[in-house]
Amino acid sequence: MAKEAAETTEKIITLASSVTVGELADTLNIPVTTLVGELFKNGIAATINQRIDFETASIIVEELGLTDVVLKKREAVSEPVADKPRHILSENATARPPIVAVMGHVDHGKTSLLDAILETKVVDDEAGGITQHISAYQVERKGRKITLLDTPGHEAFAALRQHGATLTDVVIIVVAADDGVKPQTVEAIRFAREANARIVVAINKMDKETANPQLVKTQLATEHHLNPEEWGGDTIMVEISAKAGTNIDKLLENVLLVAEMEELKADQDTPAQGLVIEAHMETGRGSVVGLLVEQGMLKPGSYIVAGTAHGKVRTLLDYKGDSLKEAGPSTPVTVTGFKELPQFGDFFKIVKNEKAARAEVAAMRSKREREAASTNVTSADILKRMSQKHEAEELEVIVKADVQGSLTSVIDSLQLIDTDGQVNLRVVGSGIGNISENDVLLAANEGTIIYGFNVDLPPAVKRQAARDKVQVRIYKIIYELLDDAKNQMESLLAPEVVETQIGSLEIKGVFRTMKESVICGGKVTSGKIMPGLHARAKRGDEVLAGAEVTKVQRQQVEAKEVFEGDMCGLELKTEKKLQIEEGDTLEFFTREVVKRTLG
Ligand code: GDP
Repeated sequence: MAKEAAETTEKIITLASSVTVGELADTLNIPVTTLVGELFKNGIAATINQRIDFETASIIVEELGLTDVVLKKREAVSEPVADKPRHILSENATARPPIVAVMGHVDHGKTSLLDAILETKVVDDEAGGITQHISAYQVERKGRKITLLDTPGHEAFAALRQHGATLTDVVIIVVAADDGVKPQTVEAIRFAREANARIVVAINKMDKETANPQLVKTQLATEHHLNPEEWGGDTIMVEISAKAGTNIDKLLENVLLVAEMEELKADQDTPAQGLVIEAHMETGRGSVVGLLVEQGMLKPGSYIVAGTAHGKVRTLLDYKGDSLKEAGPSTPVTVTGFKELPQFGDFFKIVKNEKAARAEVAAMRSKREREAASTNVTSADILKRMSQKHEAEELEVIVKADVQGSLTSVIDSLQLIDTDGQVNLRVVGSGIGNISENDVLLAANEGTIIYGFNVDLPPAVKRQAARDKVQVRIYKIIYELLDDAKNQMESLLAPEVVETQIGSLEIKGVFRTMKESVICGGKVTSGKIMPGLHARAKRGDEVLAGAEVTKVQRQQVEAKEVFEGDMCGLELKTEKKLQIEEGDTLEFFTREVVKRTLG
């Protein structure tokens, strides 16, 4: 950012395509709070570090009445850099372990299976059966390694894919033999196919008396084109019991078999590169980052870049926390030494030296700045909010989580809630750590909800939230958080009015027409008529007016209801004088207000 003195009293300020709120306030020489306040007035709850695009900055400068300031956009100079380093396999590429994800319907035994494979006690540690953080482990069978991803549910898997990472080679789809194919089973099959991964089915809970593996196979074969090998198809299905530890080896051997057919290869002798699968800060250790090596050998002491973060690998640990001298393809590792936190889903690579690392980071920063216009607060947002107050309803949320991986998963999953365009969800703030006073201040906007995932709400902040009437909701289970957000979004939908046709009548005579009522007679042509029903008067196809039935008579005697074929008298309450005549028809219906739901 550069300030230029102009000949006139105008101050020309050159900005990049996006700028943080703090930087802009600094450049304009105004307090950050003034700028934040102005953004707020325009419906944008921005934090000091949030980026706003050039157009938004221009609008805000105008709104602030800074007539002597002229903003100019600095043209981008550097070439775009690709997020994912390209790698073409060399002739020396060697076999690498398969990367395997376990997916399936909730409670079908994903965690128990991982537990059985790892022979650890994962099940006991987690809340509500959903694994919290993305991490990965390795197991060895007959001298061959398998890398297992411990994905926190399907949403996170989808989020990973959204980050451009189709990193799984094989998906084990767990189906409980006593429950069969369920919605999340179908979703898992879809994900696996979209990610181009091979599928191995684990039919679990075979120890149960109610187990019906044949039904599971039939469902998979007839409805999802997964034909078991024994029926002449090409999908391996292994009947297991995660609880009793039955056939776990057989399952893993089959996973290796399927992987072998894929001839998975990688180069060892190349600078390491791969994917960030976890990132958080730890007291005493600084940044702790989970990586999955895709190519090359990762070694301590190397200079590393991931997204806009860089550092020097200080410690290199395997999934058990043991020190490694090097880590080759498909190895999940934990490293320390990043100067700041990279993001879940960022690609990492090893570079020659600190200077190269800085250059990569600068290039990535400017790339992201250019992209910021479409991913951050944009002038389109602000203009939309200024002009059309509420076309689609909007839920504003602030998301806090314990670690970067969870935060990204939660935000991405929130944004994946399918609302058919009926409700927008806007994340107006996010961060790692407990709910803070700043979050509550930010949320003081009407209706903004703070979602916390695996974080705390300190008592002082709780009091402040209660005082400011800000809703804070803390969850430990991602699905529950998502359900809550979905319910919240549903509550924003205007209720739908559903009409149910009850009967119809042909007018045979009109006895009295008053300002707000009509007394008439006719023949019920279908259904029934009773007091309290809504009515619509029609002449041919033309609708004349709406009315309400106040009285029904059969043979001059008041009746509770009259039926098809009956001649009857009617008293209708009308909104205005209703001129009906013989031959017109009346349609009768009930009207019900129904809460709308999202898909
Ligand atoms: P997830 O939600 O798919 O991760 O399922 P969990 O692994 O948490 O398992 C859900 C429930 O099913 C738990 O109560 C497990 O003890 C039980 N379970 C898992 N595998 C088996 C199995 O092979 N046999 C029996 N009988 N129960 C199982």
